[in-house]
Amino acid sequence: MIKEFELNVLPEELVNAEILKKTVSKRTGIRIDTIQNLNLLKKSIDARKKPISYRIKVELSIIEENNPSEDITSEDEKTQNTVIEKYKDVHNAKPIIVVGAGPAGLFASLKLIEKGLKPIIIERGKPVSERKKDTAQIIRQKEINPESNWCFGEGGAGTFSDGKLYTRSNKRGNINEVLDIFVEHGADQEIRINAHAHIGTDGLSSIIKNIRKTIEDCGGEYHFETKVVDFIVNDNEIKGVITQKGDKIEADSVILATGHSARDIYYLFHDKNWALEAKPFAMGVRIEHPQELINQIQYHSRDYSSLLPPANYSLAYNYKERGVFSFCMCPGGMIIPAATDNGQMVVNGMSNSLRNSPFANSGMVVSVKEEDAKEYYQYGALSMMKLQEQTEKKMFEAAGNSIVAPAQRLTDFMKNKTSFALSQSSYLCGLIPSNMNKILPEFISSTLREGFMDFGRKMKGFLTAEANLIGLESRTSSPVRIPRDKDTLQHIQISGLYPCGEGAGYAGGITSSAIDGINIAEKIAEKKIN
Ligand SMILES: Cc1cc2nc3c(=O)[nH]c(=O)nc-3n(C[C@H](O)[C@H](O)[C@H](O)COP(=O)(O)OP(=O)(O)OC[C@H]3O[C@@H](n4cnc5c(N)ncnc54)[C@H](O)[C@@H]3O)c2cc1C
Repeated sequence: MIKEFELNVLPEELVNAEILKKTVSKRTGIRIDTIQNLNLLKKSIDARKKPISYRIKVELSIIEENNPSEDITSEDEKTQNTVIEKYKDVHNAKPIIVVGAGPAGLFASLKLIEKGLKPIIIERGKPVSERKKDTAQIIRQKEINPESNWCFGEGGAGTFSDGKLYTRSNKRGNINEVLDIFVEHGADQEIRINAHAHIGTDGLSSIIKNIRKTIEDCGGEYHFETKVVDFIVNDNEIKGVITQKGDKIEADSVILATGHSARDIYYLFHDKNWALEAKPFAMGVRIEHPQELINQIQYHSRDYSSLLPPANYSLAYNYKERGVFSFCMCPGGMIIPAATDNGQMVVNGMSNSLRNSPFANSGMVVSVKEEDAKEYYQYGALSMMKLQEQTEKKMFEAAGNSIVAPAQRLTDFMKNKTSFALSQSSYLCGLIPSNMNKILPEFISSTLREGFMDFGRKMKGFLTAEANLIGLESRTSSPVRIPRDKDTLQHIQISGLYPCGEGAGYAGGITSSAIDGINIAEKIAEKKIN
């Protein structure tokens, strides 16, 4: 007999399978000798009150007293061996162009193969190992490579990230399918269980390579260092793409999964008069505290270092009908330069699987509405992107035309004075003391100040001189939407063109972009089969 239970256990009761079995037996009243198998299905930290505990969901395989020889095989074991078999040989199958090898493009490609279609992946950046060398070069030379950086290249913006795998929206599709594919390609089984699952940059790099092996072994194709610069269209029907080398690649379906930083694609649509919409997004700074301080606040001063992961937080406040919130919090992480071209100052956060840096960083961002971009209305649907672009430029200029990042102690920001000296930071390109109040648009700095007051009340010790604000956090989600038909998922004017993932404005994050890729591939397969 299989039964599921939800209960709270102490961190020390979760470190060892035997101890956990005893605890579960005691709490559920099920005799320990009748528990044949204990399967941990979900866990999340409950730090709201002392003592801190884990909320867990377990599945017990229980031997019934009158049927002691019953052999119970868990669902997981039954499905394990069948997973890779789902992928078909597509060497000679119908080609579908996939532009962009980020989570949306890669998960779409895997689904296409499952459905018997051949993905032709076109990626402006390089394979992950070469891309790593380019990001190291960016730090050494303080110069952005516009084709190979933290956003562009194999795996997209998701490769050198924190690899958090949760999404706020469960309605978009099957999250478990995404997690299963990650596990099939080398992620730890733990991601299926942990409510706040994360993989880390080190894990993601090898998973991305394993996904490439699956795609290529099945007959899919990759074209690296190949940028799409135009589309082939006949009577509003897509016929293929044109690359920067002038090559034409033909297919009657194109998945456009170029991410939120491919501004050239938005300009291309704009120049062609193809439908685009301005989209609200969020912008602000990244805040960095010592991780130890965040642990003390969140774990109520008790040292849980051997039992619990580095603590995270999630904060939100509403001020005058405008949201201010933490975004992409990275415990034990580091801050990286995330610009995609020179003349831009953009930061973001990443971590390794162990999350063992001494710093905790998080975006602290304010919602940006269409009316905030009045100054740029002449750019139509690109007005929000223009505001984003100009703020990045201003931040770059404030750093002396460099990707050394403008920074300010949090307490100095609240007092509106430039910091004399800064706290230690993980940001590898260096910091320059600045006054964010003078660089950020006023509606952002004033809302941030109100937000920090509230966050200081919610987390005692958060509002401290030990924290630096580092700018600019601007690539939170796409400032543009490429509209698509809600049933066919094709662009509303160009049939066969499928705007997909974060760049199209239909996802935000690794998991939701992957789900969007899967959904689009399924739509294409439906159309090809019927
Ligand atoms: C540093 C960092 C940390 C992050 N951490 C997290 C996290 O922990 N959890 C989370 O959920 N999300 C995180 N994100 C966000 C997440 O990475 C994105 O939401 C996700 O990658 C979007 O997926 P996508 O496939 O839609 O686009 P992208 O991942 O942006 O991929 C787009 C791809 O298209 C390629 N491309 C662009 N233009 C062209 C062209 N013209 N021709 C050919 N190829 C092109 C790009 O090179 C890129 O590889 C992070 C992002 C960054 C930068």
